[in-house]
Amino acid sequence: MRKALQGLVPYKVKPESDMIRLDNNEAFMSLLSSVDLGNLQETLIHRYPAESSEALVNAYGRFSGFPVDNIIAGNGSDELITIIAQYFLDPGDVVFVLEPDFSMYEKNAVVMGAEVNRISLNDDFSLPLEKLLAEIETKKPKLLFLSNPNNPTGQFYPEAEIEELISALRQVDGVLILDEAYIDFAGESPFAKKVFQHENLILLRTASKAMGMAALRLGFLIANDQIIEGISCIKPPYNVNTVSAQIGTQLLENPNVLDQFLLVQLKQVAELEEILNEFVRKIVGAKLFPSHTNFFLIKMNDAKALADFLYERKIKIRFFNDDVLKAVRISAGTEEEHAKLRTALNEWSEMYAKRI
Ligand SMILES: *Cc1c(COP(=O)(O)O)cnc(C)c1O
Repeated sequence: MRKALQGLVPYKVKPESDMIRLDNNEAFMSLLSSVDLGNLQETLIHRYPAESSEALVNAYGRFSGFPVDNIIAGNGSDELITIIAQYFLDPGDVVFVLEPDFSMYEKNAVVMGAEVNRISLNDDFSLPLEKLLAEIETKKPKLLFLSNPNNPTGQFYPEAEIEELISALRQVDGVLILDEAYIDFAGESPFAKKVFQHENLILLRTASKAMGMAALRLGFLIANDQIIEGISCIKPPYNVNTVSAQIGTQLLENPNVLDQFLLVQLKQVAELEEILNEFVRKIVGAKLFPSHTNFFLIKMNDAKALADFLYERKIKIRFFNDDVLKAVRISAGTEEEHAKLRTALNEWSEMYAKRI
């Protein structure tokens, strides 16, 4: 094992089909019934998937408005993060990540032997802009990864602040990786129209969250010609499988289905917010943060105890219980799932009221 990899731990995920899953920010229902599975019967599974990935990129281009030549599809955006790290990072290069943010950025940087610099978000989870700009100038990071909206805080950073980061990185030959996994919940990306105006900006999108296709593993990288050309040299040629590409293509060719689906999810997000608002009012010191995603973060000291309590009641949520963050993250579910969540949270807050 390489020295740089010592201390890494597996990203453990237990299969838990009997649980209410509010822990992974996935969509709460499957759109497979909108897909013509008859088409799949004719799939050439003995051939490498060149045509199907091309069709997928074309469909995503039409759906998103990005030119197809500026899109690379990946086996989830997770794979694209790996490819970006492989393309840009020499051992010892400096990479900036925010804290808290999506953990895969740091992991992939570490695997490449880069030196990771974590910069804490402000207490309200806004960007520490002055600090970031100063550190970019002195430490000259090769890459800065950030998710916007942020996972796990739900916060959406202002366009002007992201622009400042891009300019500062430009001065030191650094690149911003702007991961917009949750952008559909937040509205339009201010960078959709101007990604190609920047020499040093890469957008990441995924079909895993608002589009409800996490199992298919479909992600998209969008960047200018030069970056696409470079990254294409190291991308595995058949990284997106035919079955996923075909199902993804069909759904992307039905934007009405996806738009309707987004509305259904946004309604559930509003319902979840109401449930959680009611909950935090009863818990001293608990704070619910506004969200531009399909999940909410609640800062609270008893984060782990609450997650364990819900787990016993077959509701799985995500918790953070370290020096950086004590919080739970809960993603939107169906009405039935929300009803069960509400009941369990009420039970917990009654117990809590008796304890204090
Ligand atoms: C879920 C998530 C992803 C992962 O997307 P895949 O396309 O499923 O690999 C990427 N970035 C962020 C911030 C996420 O929360």
